[in-house]
Amino acid sequence: MSVLVTGATGFIAQHIVDALLKENYNVIGTARSQAKADNLLASFNSPNLSMEIVSDISDLNAFDDIFKAHANKIKYVLHTASPFHFNTTDYSKDLFIPAKNGTLGILQSIKKYAPQTVERVVVTSSQAATLDFTAPPSSKTVYTEKSWNPANEETKQMNAIMAYCTSKKIAEKAAWDFYNENKSQLKFKLSIVNPVFVFGPQLFDSSVSATLNTSCEVINQVLKTTPKDQLKKDVMGEFIDVRDVARAHLDAFTKEETIEKRLLMNNGLFSEITIGNIINNDFPQYKGKIAPVADDTDLQNDIAPYKCDNSVTKQILGWEFTSLQKSVDDTVAQILKMSK
Ligand code: NDP
Repeated sequence: MSVLVTGATGFIAQHIVDALLKENYNVIGTARSQAKADNLLASFNSPNLSMEIVSDISDLNAFDDIFKAHANKIKYVLHTASPFHFNTTDYSKDLFIPAKNGTLGILQSIKKYAPQTVERVVVTSSQAATLDFTAPPSSKTVYTEKSWNPANEETKQMNAIMAYCTSKKIAEKAAWDFYNENKSQLKFKLSIVNPVFVFGPQLFDSSVSATLNTSCEVINQVLKTTPKDQLKKDVMGEFIDVRDVARAHLDAFTKEETIEKRLLMNNGLFSEITIGNIINNDFPQYKGKIAPVADDTDLQNDIAPYKCDNSVTKQILGWEFTSLQKSVDDTVAQILKMSK
């Protein structure tokens, strides 16, 4: 029996595939092109990984051929594919439609071709689906596994970041609506993983380039500062390590306790200064070459735009999350290694 991982070439998905292969699962990954599929197959070099091409998840039927061909093999589906970038002004075409249709499309394909063989489905959503970006910033605002971003496709005055966040809310909502409407005709149980900013090393050193994936680029941007720059004290958000996010995806389809749950993957707040101080303290090579150590005053004074209480998730998972220091250190060590 196989696990289907959509968007297997992505930053998070590569760690998920790696964790699955280490647990001896057979994995079918999807990539947007044959070249990307071949590259991933070569990197993993595992007989238990095969790849299928899904060039654009905006097409609601994008996954039909996979289920036509492999319906009897696929027992678990992990849908991670979704655009995560801010390089667009056409929010509908580049963010909302692929996010929503990708999620709805794969669920519809399961309903059409594998309603009684797929047992668990995990959708990678985001903390962005839980936050209310119209709320005034306040450390007293606490979001939980029950919170929902009120934005929708019609919400006006968006920028690309807000539009991405909205795309995640729309997609997750579509998943729950489809699931609740079709539950009686389907075997599978739905679980959702909602990560915050995901940091940590690329699975393969060869993925390190001048610009990293959207979330790790936050760390890379600090490395691109000069000693004259001042890092921002404002709390940027919350972080989680990519290896923890991968592990949560495995728990999300193997544990009974994760059925119909949202797993809010978060291990604490950070600012640019928090990241800069870790790098300055742990990497003498960078000291004096990037923005200097500074007092992390907003964090110290409990000034944050919001907070997150994910105690329910922590209780369900029952294991410790990776620290920010380790996550930043491992990310930076890999960048350093590849810059030589
Ligand atoms: P990546 O950009 O590395 O991965 C996204 C994956 O989705 C890639 O494989 C990408 O393919 C694929 N994809 C994007 N658009 C399409 C499309 N239209 N058709 C087919 N495939 C597509 O991002 P991450 O690994 O960081 O993100 C993975 C998931 O986790 C996403 O759903 C994201 O929203 C979510 N997430 C990420 C967080 C983070 O901090 N990293 C935080 C919260 C949620 P290609 O590379 O070829 O474009």
